[in-house]
Formats: sequence, structure tokens, C-alpha cells
Amino acid sequence: MRIDLEHVSEAGRNVIQNIGSVNHYINGAFTPSTSKDTFINTNPYTNETINDVAQGNEQDVNLAVKAAQTAFHGEWGQMKLSKRLQFMNRIADLINEHIDEIAPLESFDTGLPLKQTKKMVARAAQNFRFYAEMVSTRLVGDVYNVDDEFLNYTIHKPVGVAGLITPWNAPFMLETWKIAPALATGNTVVLKPAEWSPLTANRLAEIIHKAGLPNGVFNVVHGIGEITGAALVAHRDVPLISFTGETKTGVEIQRNGAEHMKQFSMELGGKSPIIIFDDADLERALDACVWGIFSFNGERCTANSRLYVHESIASEFIERLKARVDNIRVGDPLDEATEIGPLIHRNHYDHVKSHIHQAKEDGATVYQGNVPAEYDLGCFIPPTLLLNTDQTMRAVQEEIFGPVLTVMTFTDEADVIERANDVRYGLAGYVWTNDMKRGHRVAAAVNAGMLWVNAQNVRDLRTPFGGSKQSGIGREGGHYAFEFYTEVQIIHVALNDHPIPQFGKTNREVH
Ligand code: NAD
Repeated sequence: MRIDLEHVSEAGRNVIQNIGSVNHYINGAFTPSTSKDTFINTNPYTNETINDVAQGNEQDVNLAVKAAQTAFHGEWGQMKLSKRLQFMNRIADLINEHIDEIAPLESFDTGLPLKQTKKMVARAAQNFRFYAEMVSTRLVGDVYNVDDEFLNYTIHKPVGVAGLITPWNAPFMLETWKIAPALATGNTVVLKPAEWSPLTANRLAEIIHKAGLPNGVFNVVHGIGEITGAALVAHRDVPLISFTGETKTGVEIQRNGAEHMKQFSMELGGKSPIIIFDDADLERALDACVWGIFSFNGERCTANSRLYVHESIASEFIERLKARVDNIRVGDPLDEATEIGPLIHRNHYDHVKSHIHQAKEDGATVYQGNVPAEYDLGCFIPPTLLLNTDQTMRAVQEEIFGPVLTVMTFTDEADVIERANDVRYGLAGYVWTNDMKRGHRVAAAVNAGMLWVNAQNVRDLRTPFGGSKQSGIGREGGHYAFEFYTEVQIIHVALNDHPIPQFGKTNREVH
């Protein structure tokens, strides 16, 4: 197998053929680590080395935070809002101009199919444009008149240096999802991207550099989570940590950041149910179910990884699911016809494989699609159904984060709600029924942050995003992100001479 760039756009080919070493981006300059240490980045399609990447240490993190702090107290902090927001729109324009480079680079680095990365990159541009608009129209305070004696009003102030720690499953989009609100509200940023997907984070730094932001406003320090990420979390002068990743990492980060009373936004793991009632539009439910678990190679936090299908339609639905699984095109992530590419990394491939193996041991029946033999060097897992599963199995309880769907049946509404809620996660959920009352009722009864009724995962950027239970803390998206990225201050102004207690004013009688 070789990497075939024939069908990639010229821009994509150029950028892939010219990948060099990746450095940090600190204070407006691309710099190696102070230690000169690097780590190796591999291609999941062939498992060959792509390049080496600067391995950030505490000193590199300190330099980035210092630069971000200086920018916050300097030019960026004093900049007029309209100018700041012009930068946001400029970044959006530049991302749009370079979609044909960024999307192939992302697919090359992560194994995500090109057709999907193109959409993710377009969404990344929207994130900047959206937050420019949101800050100018919705970042407003409240006013309280108190009996004509006081006027109290709130203002939103940027907090300072935001430490952003991101995963590899939709890296470019998820980085911008945090950077856009952080910068638009006036903070400065140190980004620690996932070590398995450094290429587009570096491209983003190049784009932001080209947009001409003052030095230090945006910084990237690459490196291993437990070293570089941990140094960012432990840094005294980083009051905000926005993290997206695994629940167990989120727990560790909160523990490590507790000493400095940081504020955390946590977007964590999921194990989301899709419940299909017998009156649902089955073809549409099938489309949504298949897309929801197999898009992004199944490496999707909101994936519907637990199917509960009504007993009376189960055998027909499962036959149709199997036919889809047989048909899904597994292959080269740079080919636009590919529907599932290789998983991000050999370690993750082993993790997903071990889950499938364990499910088999636990009594599940494994049904899989095909991976053509020519792809045997890559981290490919075929689309997989785990049939005959039950609620107690590990495969049902734990996040697998691959193209693996556990399939279960139900007959009773109350029972399926109970089982849908019987996991530690609560990120998303999907309900399919043509009974309107039931749709609303079941959606409200599922304990998760985001529910969709008769819909696939379509999100308007104005809506809140986040999970309940162990899927997260807080909400990002829309104006909800302002709660995290700004400090609300209340200012009380007296309009009148209101009574003030006069301690010590009357002369004491001395005996
Ligand atoms: P991960 O937790 O392994 O890593 C995420 C980031 O944290 C990486 O940048 C990593 O280097 C860093 N990190 C690791 N250990 C750290 C530490 N001790 N201190 C500071 N930083 C540290 O997650 P992953 O494997 O990259 O991503 C997959 C996970 O992300 C899945 O669980 C998925 O559900 C979750 N995810 C959640 C959402 C959401 O919005 N809820 C979105 C996407 C992905």
C-alpha cells in the first residue's frame, strides 16, 4: 500500500508533500522546544512516520503563558472591540481560503475521511465568524434599578490567559470551537493540541500568524498530555482551563488544577443511546443510526453507540443495519468516496480491538463489514455490530470510541428509559418515534445534555453544547460560552443619598 495523492487537490498535495518538523508557536514565532526534544508523529493509514514535533516542557509552557499574559495586559487588552472582531473575521476568511489544504492535511494526520474533514474545516471558519457576531450582539449586561436609589449594572470582562486542551478526533474544528470564543471575548490563549494530531494545529498557528494578531495573543505548545498539558494546568497564571477529552483525563486535570482554584470547562466522554420505537420512520432512523455511529470513524463523542430498537421491528431493522455495514466503503482517508478511514493511532486501534474481543468473550455476537486486504498496514477496524449484548457488558457501559455499535432490543418505554440512563455518561441521546407526545416525553426523561428527536446530530451554533453526569461540566456554544470565558462584574451606583450607618460618629460618654 502506498499513499496515493493523485486524487487530492493540488493544494492538498503540496501541503502534504512539504510537511516539515512542527514547532511551537510562542509570542508570534515558530520555535523548537527549549530542550530541543521532539516526538514522532505517524500516519494511521500506513503507520509510517510523518514528521517530528516539538515536545513542550514546563519552560516552553512558561514562555507561552508569559507571552499570553503580556499580550492580555498590553495591546490586545487595550484594543477596541471592533478591531478585535475584525481579526476574528480575518481568521475565518483565511481558513475558508485554505480549506483545500487544511482538510487533506487533517485526513492525512488523523485518518478521518476527506469528505468529512472538509465540512469540519468549514465549520471551524464559522466558529470565528459566529463568535465575532455573538460578542458584538449578545455580550451585553443587565441593569437593575433599585427604588430610584441605585443603578446596578453588570459588565463582562475577559478573564486572562485561557489554557485550551484538545483531543484528536476532530482536532481543527474542536480547537477553533474554543479559540474563537476565548479570543472574541478578549482573552489570550495557550493551546495544547492532541499529540496524535499536531499538523492542523500548526497550520492554524500559521493562519492566525498571517491574520496579524499581536504577538502572544495566540500560542501553541505541542507535546504529550501528561507533561505539556499538565504544565499548563498547573500554571498559576492560567485561570481558565477548557478541556475536551476522556473523562479520566478530565478528573486528573481538575485534581491538578485545584490548588490554584481554576475554572474548568469539561467536555468529556459519551456512550449515547439511540432509541427507535416501532412507529418510527425506519429508513430515516437507519440513515441516522448508521451515520451517527460510523461517521468520524466512530471516533465521535456524541456517537449513538448504544442502539435500543423496539422488539417488534428489531429483526427487520438489524437485517437492514447489516446490509449497510456490508456496504460501507472502508479505505483511503484521502479518497472522497471513503466513508470509514483508519483509526487515529496503533494504541487506539488496540484499545478498540480489545473491546470487541472482550464483548465476544462476554457473549456478544460480532458482525463486521470488510476492510480490503490492501489496507492491512493501517489502523483499520471494519464497521462493527455487537449483537446479543446486554446492559451489564463492558461494551455497553464503556466508551469504545470506534466504529462499534452495541445492539439491544426493548418492549417497554419505562424500561428503555431506565436502560438508556444506566451508564455513567450523559452527553447525548436520540429518539425516533412518530408519536409526538412520546418523542418529547422520552427525550426529557433521558439524562443527557443534548437530545435529538427524529434527527441526526445537527447543531445550530447558538445552542448549548455539553454533557451531564460524567460527560462534562458546564456548557459551551452560543452565549453559554460567555459564562466560562468572561467574568461577570456587578457595579452598584448610588443615585441618591441613601442612609449609611454611622458607626463611631456619636461621641461616646467616657466614664
Ligand atoms: P485524552 O483525554 O486522552 O486527551 C485529550 C487531551 O488532553 C490531549 O491533548 C492530551 O494530550 C491531553 N492530556 C492528556 N493527559 C493530560 C494531563 N494529565 N494533563 C493535561 N492534559 C492532558 O482524549 P483523546 O483520546 O484525545 O480524545 C478522545 C476523548 O475525547 C473521548 O473520550 C471523547 O468522547 C472525548 N471527546 C469529548 C467531546 C465532547 O465535547 N464532550 C468532544 C470530542 C471528544
